[in-house]
Amino acid sequence: MSDYDAIIVGAGHNGLTAAVVLQRAGLRTLCLEANTYSGGMSATVELIDGFKYEIAGSVRFPTAPKINSELGLDTLPTIESEIMSVNLGEHGEEAMIFHSDPMAMMTHLNEKHGMEAVMAMANLYAWSVGPGKALGRFDALALPKTIDEMYACADNEDERRAIHEMLFGSAMDVVDRFLPDKEKHAVIRGMLAFLAVNSTYRGPYTPGSATCLAFAMAMPQRGPDDHQTQGRHRCAG
Ligand SMILES: Cc1cc2nc3c(=O)[nH]c(=O)nc-3n(C[C@H](O)[C@H](O)[C@H](O)COP(=O)(O)OP(=O)(O)OC[C@H]3O[C@@H](n4cnc5c(N)ncnc54)[C@H](O)[C@@H]3O)c2cc1C
Repeated sequence: MSDYDAIIVGAGHNGLTAAVVLQRAGLRTLCLEANTYSGGMSATVELIDGFKYEIAGSVRFPTAPKINSELGLDTLPTIESEIMSVNLGEHGEEAMIFHSDPMAMMTHLNEKHGMEAVMAMANLYAWSVGPGKALGRFDALALPKTIDEMYACADNEDERRAIHEMLFGSAMDVVDRFLPDKEKHAVIRGMLAFLAVNSTYRGPYTPGSATCLAFAMAMPQRGPDDHQTQGRHRCAG
C-alpha cells in the first residue's frame, strides 16, 4: 500500500497550493522539489550571503479574495510596496514606474509621459474588462470556461472583440493599437511586453500572449454594494 494518496512534483506556488488543498482535504500528500528552496519562480532566495533576490516574480497582481482567505494569506503580515517595478529606458528616457495604486500610476504617467500615455493606459484597463471576465480572473474553485462560455461573458461588441483578441492575438497587437509610437513610448511598451513574456516564457509577439496582458491588467469589478462582482457568477450564454 502506498504511503501517500497524492504526490505533487514541484514546490512552486502552484504545487504548494495544491499540496495545502489536498492535505486539508485529508489526503496524505507529498510535495517533491528539485531545488534546495521552495517557491519556484516566485521564491526569494539568499543567492549571495546577506543578499536576498527574487528568483523571478516581483509584482504581486491582485488575487481572488476567496483564495487569499482559504490559504490564510489574509492573516499574514504584508509589506505593501508602493512601487511594483520600474522599467529604465535605454537612452535616458523617463523611467516607467509601475505603482501599486492605479491612481498613483496615472499621476506618474501624466507628469512624466504625457496625457497620451494616460489615455492609452486607461484604454488598456478598459480593454482588459471583457477578457478579465472571460478568464474568470477573480474566480476561485471554478472550472475553466469553454471558448463559447468566454465569448458569452461579453456585455458589448468591444468586450467581445477584446476577448477574441485575448484568445488569438499577441500582447503587441494590443500594445501597438494603444501605444503605437515605438520611440516616444518605448519604456511603457517594453514594460507591457515584459508582462507577456514573464507568464508565457515566449515572446510578446506570440499569438495568445495577449492573455497575459489581460491577466496583468484586469481589476476586480465592484458592484453597488462595493463587493467584488466579478467571479460571483459564471457568464451565461
Ligand atoms: C522572469 C520572470 C518574471 C516573473 N515575474 C512575475 C511577477 O512579477 N509576478 C507574477 O505574478 N508572476 C511573475 N512571473 C510568473 C511566475 O513566476 C510564474 O507564473 C509562477 O512562478 C508559476 O508557478 P508554478 O508553481 O506553476 O511554477 P514554478 O514557480 O516554475 O515552480 C515549479 C517548481 O517545480 C520544480 N520542479 C520542476 N520539475 C521538477 C521535477 N521533475 N522534480 C522536482 N521538482 C521539479 C521547480 O524546481 C520549481 O520549484 C515571472 C516569471 C518569470 C520567468
